[in-house]
Amino acid sequence: MSAFNVAKFGGTSVANFEAMSRCSAIIENNPHTKLVVSSACSGVTNLLVELANGVQESEQRALILKQLADIHHAIIDQLADPTQVEKEVHTILDSVASAAEAASFQSSKKLTDHLVACGELMSTHILAQLMRERGVNAVRFDIRDVLRTDDHYGRAEPQLDEIKRLAKATLVPLCQQNVVITQGFIGSDEQGNTTTLGRGGSDYSAALIAEAVEASGLEIWTDVPGIYTTDPRIAPKAAPIPEISFSEASEMANFGAKILHPSTLVPAIRHGIPVFVGSSKEPEKGGTWIRQEVENSPQFRALALRCNQTMVTLRSAKMFHAYGFLAKVFEVLAKYKISVDLITTSEISVSLTLDKTDTAGGAPELPQEARAELEELATVEVEHNLCLVALIGNQMETKGYAKQVFSTLGDFNLRMICYGASDHNLCFLVDAPVSKNVIQKLHEDLFE
Ligand code: ASP
Ligand code: MG
Repeated sequence: MSAFNVAKFGGTSVANFEAMSRCSAIIENNPHTKLVVSSACSGVTNLLVELANGVQESEQRALILKQLADIHHAIIDQLADPTQVEKEVHTILDSVASAAEAASFQSSKKLTDHLVACGELMSTHILAQLMRERGVNAVRFDIRDVLRTDDHYGRAEPQLDEIKRLAKATLVPLCQQNVVITQGFIGSDEQGNTTTLGRGGSDYSAALIAEAVEASGLEIWTDVPGIYTTDPRIAPKAAPIPEISFSEASEMANFGAKILHPSTLVPAIRHGIPVFVGSSKEPEKGGTWIRQEVENSPQFRALALRCNQTMVTLRSAKMFHAYGFLAKVFEVLAKYKISVDLITTSEISVSLTLDKTDTAGGAPELPQEARAELEELATVEVEHNLCLVALIGNQMETKGYAKQVFSTLGDFNLRMICYGASDHNLCFLVDAPVSKNVIQKLHEDLFE
């Protein structure tokens, strides 16, 4: 098959008329780009989440609705022929207003998904029209007709076979004659109800769609020129990484480098699709290529930081020399659909951190019912205000590696350490107030 590129643009990339025009230029520059996945305009999803959580005061709701209208009007007003798009966006804004009112009485995850999906539904109307006005044969496509998921609202699971089947039937033929503009983040369940893949889910959407249409490349355009050795706002000497392996990049995404949604690389790896990450603001700066095979595999590749961690520690003398204890713990966690991130065990205790990617946001909590069931097995302690530091690299089991890392950290209190399960990462929890210092010290000693 000939080259078929999928390009995804994040919220800041489609924040206003100029930003959207830059996206269009990037698409126009690559004749292989047939499919474009867009986020909502910057800030829009946050406002919609606020409404979905239930805003009681009608004046306050009106204020948020006005902000939403303003963001979109600022772009629409610069179009040469805004009539049709304006109508479409107004219809969506009307449905936002009535859903927001409903949410003020009673919010639900289903209603939240219905509401927050509106950001992407609006941005894609505008982007498609803007591109048509630049002479591109752009058509908007409602991805809910293809991106089938289960009904786990707020964090729906894609149904891969169904997505593939639907994409082949409708999306692929459309891409033959047109540049197709569609939504990230959203999908629909079997009943046709709108679902979302969790905050930041547009990257994941783009990868799922790229897999379904058997794309040969996936570009993720955002507001940073690729992946850096760490967040340059924390360590100013952080350097760009031109090329990185799937394994290293997956560890980075998992462990909080905010550049990619953690699930993004799963479909790309499955289908062997190289992924490019770059800045739509400065495309000339290049970016990072993520692929299966890379030329360099340094011992120290990057540092990631993820805050808002919740650590749960279970202690029980019953665990001593017993079997099946952890199985029981995980049975409870599975029952409440609680995803675990890190885990360390001793003879009589187990500590784990909770994962959180739900659309509603906030620090992960151990649900009360789950806690009660766990308390039947062990004493349960829950701690917040912790950050996870992940060091990503290669051949971490090598002699001297751990010494080099831990001697750098002599002055810090490490709360939990995970080392050895993966050859590509070493991670630990630290108290939130010192987390940035930990990153700075490690970066200075191991990377600069
Ligand atoms: N608009 C959604 C969000 O802000 C999805 C995304 O941008 O990836 O989370
Ligand atoms: Mg994003």
